[in-house]
Amino acid sequence: FDCSLTVVGSINADITATISRLPAAGETVGGGRLSRSPGGKGANQAAAAARLGARTRMIGAIGPDSDGQAMLHALRTAGVRTDDIAEATAETGTALIMVDAAGENQIAVCEGANAEVSLAGIEFGADEAVLTQLEISLDLIVELADRVPGFLAVNAAPALPLPAEVVDRADLIIVNEFEYSQLPQLRTAKLVAVTFGAKGSALLQKGEQIAFAEAVPATPVSTVGAGDAYCAALTIGLISGLGPERALRAANAVGAAAVEVAFAQPEFDRLENYLSTLD
Ligand code: ATP
Repeated sequence: FDCSLTVVGSINADITATISRLPAAGETVGGGRLSRSPGGKGANQAAAAARLGARTRMIGAIGPDSDGQAMLHALRTAGVRTDDIAEATAETGTALIMVDAAGENQIAVCEGANAEVSLAGIEFGADEAVLTQLEISLDLIVELADRVPGFLAVNAAPALPLPAEVVDRADLIIVNEFEYSQLPQLRTAKLVAVTFGAKGSALLQKGEQIAFAEAVPATPVSTVGAGDAYCAALTIGLISGLGPERALRAANAVGAAAVEVAFAQPEFDRLENYLSTLD
């Protein structure tokens, strides 16, 4: 596929504790194993898009700290253009993640620099698709809805009520089952992808299902980042002209590959290679 994608979104340092089970409120669970890795829905989606084969640039912000430099390095290693990532005054965004033995997770996010992302001085080309998520300010999403001339995809995660102008403008809105249940307004959107974890995913036009694809079997290690890889793959598939079912199948294959890896920015093959394994 030959396509250009700009990802506007969050960049986080992920600090992950892997533990036998997730603690209940007020409870302490010991025996954790600690790891640090690059994350943030925006950065994860940008890294995945570049590895899947799209020419990818990222618009975002890091803090004036070593985590920020490590996050930039990870994006460049994945092949993402990082010139439009600004250095903010706040610290680099951080996600505190707990993952249990079954791969389920709980996440606390500290926005930091992500609250300072700005579109000042940024131009968008007519052939350039844009993918964004809700870990940056909703005002920026509204600004994107107004300014992006090309294909606009919004991953409405975490679940927040979307302004009507965004729902009406977006060419694609991607949500998981839970987010879909929280956002009844999505029933009027042009095109919505709903993910069902190990059950696969569906595409809906104005609330009517137009395609469904079963998940690709996987042995989950961690679902962190699976949704992000899926968003990148589905957006690239659709802007490259794959039909609804093939785009869903390719995105499911990429999501399945992502759950088998413990961290949020894994290696991927080019998207066409996932498709060829499905045919
Ligand atoms: P995240 O935990 O990253 O926020 P999410 O809740 O946004 O994920 P999911 O629905 O869990 O999104 O997963 C996205 C896609 O990844 C699914 O539609 C599916 O294609 C794939 N996927 C997720 N979990 C599994 C699994 N256990 N087996 C196979 N594929 C999976």
